[in-house]
Amino acid sequence: MQTILIIEDEIDIADLIAFNLERNQFAVEMEHDGEAGLATALTSQPDLIILDLMLPKKDGFTVFKDLRNDPRTRTTPVLMLTAKAQTEDRIAGLEIGADDYLTKPFSPKELVLRIKAILKRNAKSSTNSSFECGPYKFNKSTLEFFANGEFIDLTATEFKLMLYLCERPNAPQDRYVLLKEVWGYHDEVNSRTLDTHLKRLRQKLGEHATPLETVRGVGYQIVT
Ligand code: CA
Repeated sequence: MQTILIIEDEIDIADLIAFNLERNQFAVEMEHDGEAGLATALTSQPDLIILDLMLPKKDGFTVFKDLRNDPRTRTTPVLMLTAKAQTEDRIAGLEIGADDYLTKPFSPKELVLRIKAILKRNAKSSTNSSFECGPYKFNKSTLEFFANGEFIDLTATEFKLMLYLCERPNAPQDRYVLLKEVWGYHDEVNSRTLDTHLKRLRQKLGEHATPLETVRGVGYQIVT
C-alpha cells in the first residue's frame, strides 16, 4: 500500500482528500502546518506529498525547498495545492519543481487521477536501473541524472521528460504526446506546464543542454 502525506491546514479539505484517498486504497498521513508536515515527510518518507501553499508556521514554498534539500525526500513527488487562481502563482509552483498542482476548489476525483498518474510515471521510470543516451546517463532506481558525468539535480518530472525524449533520440516528440505520456493528461493550462518545465530543465542542464532541441510547431527532441 502506498502512503500519501497531506499537508493542509484547512481541516475540511484535508479530511475530504484523506477520505477519497483511503477509498482508493492509499494509506494517508495528515499534518496541518508546514513545520509538522516537513518533520513527518522526513521521518516517514511517504510515496507522495500533497502540499498546500498557504500554511501556518512554514509556507508551502519553503517546505518544498526543504524537502528537495534533504536526501530522504529529494525525489518524492509533490502535488501542490493553491487557493490562488492567478497564473503567476501556478507557474511559480512549477518553476520551483513541483510535479503537479491543483487550484482550489478541485474535484477529489481529479486529485486522485493526478496522484495515480504521478505514481505511475514514477514507477515506470524505476523498472530498469541504468540507461545512457549521448552525454546523458540515467539511474532509474535512484532518479539520478548525469550529463557528461556531472550530476544534475532533476525533479521526478524533469527526469521522466528527459528519459522519454532520450529513449526516442533524433525523433521530434509532439508536445501533446509529451504532455500525455509524461504528465498523463493535457489541456490549455497544462500546455504551459511543458514550456515551464523545459525552460527550467535547460537552465539546469546549462552547457549540457545543446542536444535538447525545440522543434518549431511540433515539440522537442534529443539530438545525438
Ligand atoms: Ca492553506
